[in-house]
Amino acid sequence: MKGRTALERQIKSIPAAAGLAIGKVVWLRKHDRADDVPRHISEDEVDAELSRFHAAVAAAREQIAELRNTTAKQVGEEEASVFDAHLAFLADPAYVDETVRRIRREALSATGACSAVTKETSDMLASLPDEYLSARAADIRDVGDRLLGLLSSETKGTVTFAPGSVVVADELTPSQTAELTSDVVGLVTRRGSKTGHAAIIARTLAIPMVVGAGDALDDLGDGQTVVVDGDAGTVDVEPDAAELEAVRARQAERAKHRAEALAAGRAPAVTADGRRIEVLANIGSPKDVEAALAGGAEGVGLFRTEFLYQESDHWPTEAEQLEAYRAVLEAFGDAPVIIRTLDIGGDKPLPYAEMPKEDNPFLGQRAVRFCLANPDVFRTQLRALLRAAMFGNLHVMVPMVENVEEVEAVRALFDECRDQLKAEGQTFGELKLGIMVEIPAAAVMADILAPHVDFMSIGTNDLTQYTLAVDRGNERIEHLYDASHPAVLRLIRMTCDAAAKVGIPVGVCGELAGDAAMAETLVGLGVTELSMSATRIADVKVKLRGVTTDRARALADEVLTLASAALVQARVQALAQA
Ligand code: PEP
Ligand code: MG
Repeated sequence: MKGRTALERQIKSIPAAAGLAIGKVVWLRKHDRADDVPRHISEDEVDAELSRFHAAVAAAREQIAELRNTTAKQVGEEEASVFDAHLAFLADPAYVDETVRRIRREALSATGACSAVTKETSDMLASLPDEYLSARAADIRDVGDRLLGLLSSETKGTVTFAPGSVVVADELTPSQTAELTSDVVGLVTRRGSKTGHAAIIARTLAIPMVVGAGDALDDLGDGQTVVVDGDAGTVDVEPDAAELEAVRARQAERAKHRAEALAAGRAPAVTADGRRIEVLANIGSPKDVEAALAGGAEGVGLFRTEFLYQESDHWPTEAEQLEAYRAVLEAFGDAPVIIRTLDIGGDKPLPYAEMPKEDNPFLGQRAVRFCLANPDVFRTQLRALLRAAMFGNLHVMVPMVENVEEVEAVRALFDECRDQLKAEGQTFGELKLGIMVEIPAAAVMADILAPHVDFMSIGTNDLTQYTLAVDRGNERIEHLYDASHPAVLRLIRMTCDAAAKVGIPVGVCGELAGDAAMAETLVGLGVTELSMSATRIADVKVKLRGVTTDRARALADEVLTLASAALVQARVQALAQA
């Protein structure tokens, strides 16, 4: 996919944030700082260098805290939490004290010491087998860059761009992306993946972005006019007047569509033949509720409770959990709120959980497997959920279920917790119990599982990686990761058929649910509810209103027979443009 086309004027890469932009290339290069090379200082300079370093740490802390706040407000808690890791590095003795030690003991300049310690820490983290920890290497580089920028008096937070800039970089950090001003109309990177945090932030800021363009960027020069197509994943270099005119017409069309979609976001989604499809929001914290409601969510289809655990430095207590669950339930009144039980393991470790290292963590003691192996931890969550059920329409969903025994074990623990609460004189409410279908075995065996649960929700993010044997976080095989692969769609159909037989609802809460182009296919497969990030709701609702059940069914039947995800995409895109 990557490289130049025969026309030599189009760079093909990976689409990461939708939209169309016309602008002038501005390369964001790493600054060549001569002072990054460790420079020895005299004894007289040590105190001054130490205060320079401490001042830079304080300023960086302030900048990151502010960035965290604005990102939380404008983008969401989930994405903002990446900056907690940055703040943690600034408080980490292994990083800060080591830099101080080198300035003091080895008489290195502040920039030299900071640059060396940043590099060593990031190299060390990158070499770790634990995926979560090795991904922190990018975070420490981001923090180090900020400190070096401050030390060399570059005001990193105020990098300014001329209006209409398309920022081109080898890689963009989450900080850099979150700090971009509205003068930046498009983003192009040499490396990176569409599931990285920079891409997630670009999507929410609605800045068209393509990533992974590779060596094709070598010939791109500052000041060249380009068209960034964040849907197609292309960059057109120096388009002629006719092409520019066509792009402007497409931009106007998109803007009109977006305005209509936002206005239509609040009303329920009813198909053209009168079928109601519930459109819900995915959230990671009670702080995301406001954005979910503003986006038109009719409830919560996935509350990822692991963020509650990851934000804490201890196992969240029953009272702490109750407060968080109650806040979300009360905000949604009678509307359904699906709270997912703890899903750690895989790429989501918990520092205080002391989980043994696993060679294949995604195939390891993740999610419900961890919870059942640690019933004390699990009981605290189940008790909090039972007590929270008093305050709304609670649905509890268990991730990574693979067999009926797991469902029965969770039910038995719930019963135990009910008995305990009763004996203690505590009040608790009714709840519905469902499972996530995200392991292929659960989809294949959905007819066996369905009679044991009140609802099912398909986690296409994991279902795709397990079905296609493609690690969802590995950018080298990202081109193979596609939730619209017919194999995944066939599993969705099997799940929906099994759910329909016993009359229980079935939703999709993976990223596929927020792909408006796939909405008709999902309805045709038999999905009754879709849950997605708040920013996707309006578009999906508009799409659903044009769907009729018969046509959707025929489309789904047809795409199930296609040979590849690319053919499915071609088919649904052709329909969208028809
Ligand atoms: C999924 O796997 O589709 C899902 C929604 O869960 P997560 O992305 O948290 O693994
Ligand atoms: Mg999952």
